[in-house]
Amino acid sequence: MRLLLHMCCGPCAVYPVAALRREGHELHGFFCNPNIHPYREFRRRLGAARAFAEKAGLPVTWERDYGLKLFVRSVVFHERDRCRICYRLRLRRTARLAADMGLDGFTTTLLYSRYQKHDLIRQTGEWAAAQAGVPFFYQDFRAGWQAGIEGAIAMGLYRQAYCGCIYSEQERYDKKLRRRRSPLQEPRNS
Ligand code: SF4
Repeated sequence: MRLLLHMCCGPCAVYPVAALRREGHELHGFFCNPNIHPYREFRRRLGAARAFAEKAGLPVTWERDYGLKLFVRSVVFHERDRCRICYRLRLRRTARLAADMGLDGFTTTLLYSRYQKHDLIRQTGEWAAAQAGVPFFYQDFRAGWQAGIEGAIAMGLYRQAYCGCIYSEQERYDKKLRRRRSPLQEPRNS
């Protein structure tokens, strides 16, 4: 299949790209992440994704604009449901681009992370697929978790310490907040 691969960052793309290529799929990447804050972190992850794409020979469509305002305006007053909104923002745009490009389907490197809300990503991918009229290609990339980490380290890619949004950055570093949080935590890292 000719697939559009939404890339949340460089390290998370390492295993999915290798696995999908092994299966014979033709890939085009899409970096679309208004959820990455603050600005210097966004630039750093964009740089890591570019470094990976060059090493992997992966053609990519880049959304280079910093999406802080879009993201915050989308989630304000809905912070507890922000991951669903965040996945929708990214996967809806991915599905539309896949349809515009006439590809056979789309998928996302979010399905690689052990720390993301995997089932919600799958549901959201299917929702975006129905909206855009292009199939969502589901695969559980978590099987390659360790291989992906080792690949990212071997390539010297920057590996982030928190999921992306300003809320997740606080949850990662604010010790008082972490102590108050329930076991049902937000994604720790992409
Ligand atoms: S914690 Fe991660 S998935 Fe959830 S809203 Fe923030 S960036 Fe998006």
